[in-house]
Amino acid sequence: MRVTVIGAGIGGLALAQALHRADIDVVVHDRDAHVGATGGYRLALDRPACEMLRRHLGPAHYQALLGSSAPPSASRTLTLADHRLRPLAEQTFDPADEALFIGRVPLRTLLAEGLGDRVRFASTYRDHEVRSDGRVVTHFDDGTTEVSDVLVGADGVRSRVAATLAGRPTSTPCDYGCIAARIPLTAEVRRRLPAMLADGPGLAQGPGGLGLFLTAHDPAAGATVDPATCREVAAITEAPALVWGLIGPEAVLRPGGTALAAGALVAHARHVLRGWSPALLDLVAATDVDTAAYFGYHTCDPDGDLTPWPAGPVTALGDAVHAMPPTGGGSAATAIRDAGHLADELVAARDGTTTIPLATLRFQQTMAGYAPSRVRDALGLLRSMQRLSHPVASGVARVGLPAVAAWHRVRTSLTGSGRPGSAVADHARVVS
Ligand SMILES: Cc1cc2nc3c(=O)[nH]c(=O)nc-3n(C[C@H](O)[C@H](O)[C@H](O)COP(=O)(O)OP(=O)(O)OC[C@H]3O[C@@H](n4cnc5c(N)ncnc54)[C@H](O)[C@@H]3O)c2cc1C
Repeated sequence: MRVTVIGAGIGGLALAQALHRADIDVVVHDRDAHVGATGGYRLALDRPACEMLRRHLGPAHYQALLGSSAPPSASRTLTLADHRLRPLAEQTFDPADEALFIGRVPLRTLLAEGLGDRVRFASTYRDHEVRSDGRVVTHFDDGTTEVSDVLVGADGVRSRVAATLAGRPTSTPCDYGCIAARIPLTAEVRRRLPAMLADGPGLAQGPGGLGLFLTAHDPAAGATVDPATCREVAAITEAPALVWGLIGPEAVLRPGGTALAAGALVAHARHVLRGWSPALLDLVAATDVDTAAYFGYHTCDPDGDLTPWPAGPVTALGDAVHAMPPTGGGSAATAIRDAGHLADELVAARDGTTTIPLATLRFQQTMAGYAPSRVRDALGLLRSMQRLSHPVASGVARVGLPAVAAWHRVRTSLTGSGRPGSAVADHARVVS
């Protein structure tokens, strides 16, 4: 069996690793120039994603992921505050729960590790056709073609593969987005960190539906596995950073719909944050402007059919199918989970215990069981932020608690602990 994957992002590479380890011939194409050509924010991966990676990667490979990840103990408490840093509510988590907190660049680099020339960069999918013998011919922008038994669209939001299958785009813009960047975590910056970041991330919510998410990311300060022991597959230890994301309406963060250069983005973020706590403004002023980027949020319809096409040799996974705003922190994890299920089904098809169309059908049905709730969680948090578009007053705590509730649901599924969907009052508390 030969599988062509479009997109060497998180889901596409996780699938390629799993297939490669199962001795299935797989080739991944990505339009990016190289593996490091991607946004440098930090990803949180939940227990199902960790389980998938542990099962489908070699042990040395998974060890390197742990050696590159900040420990869950660094994300013990999520604090919600107002824009003047007055605490509103907090949520504590069990640090024993399995999770990975890893930069997107190290994760992508490690997922490409060992695949060699099976990953082809600067190769852009154009379209495909299914031949009468059931095989798929994929056409690329450079005029080349590739013939395979299965084609998988792991080409993220605005997926061309999924749009070709569905006959329409599979997601729509949310009119919300995020300016994300990193602040080098120097001794001076550490001294200036607000108290709310002492035990984990913080979300400061302000007027106009804006939220500033901050998290200290320091894998060197106590990775779960000692990076020095990762000899077969080397760990990638990122420089310590305070990662921030200013979340808000696209009309505010991207006035006139124009793309701003990295330096101008940070200046614009500081302008938007006028009137917020001086401590936050001072921190944002210390940003490494080269790391700044704007990301527009997209979402699928979690109540619609995620894969509205007849099952066959072409399918799609990850953001290509179930785009969601990253506010829920679950989209990369869901893409990895998809990759694990699809790999299992394709191995069964290769072994003759199912057919390729039945394998993709079962994968799509399984995905429909868990992906919509992740999308709803992500949208729930975004909506609670949008409710804060109204002036911040005493009612903010009432609005804030539902936001923590949304985070709680996300984290509950992030860690696999607790009772999914359970009442947040058991776990979150309003700070008076
Ligand atoms: C600021 C920000 C913060 C985030 N934080 C989190 C978080 O904390 N936790 C979390 O789970 N998720 C987070 N996410 C989302 C997460 O990064 C994505 O959900 C995840 O990467 C999706 O994986 P994927 O494989 O579906 O797509 P991607 O990883 O986006 O990969 C798609 C790939 O397809 C390639 N591609 C696209 N079109 C073509 C084409 N025509 N031909 C060839 N290649 C193509 C792209 O170059 C890309 O490499 C965040 C996203 C943003 C923007």
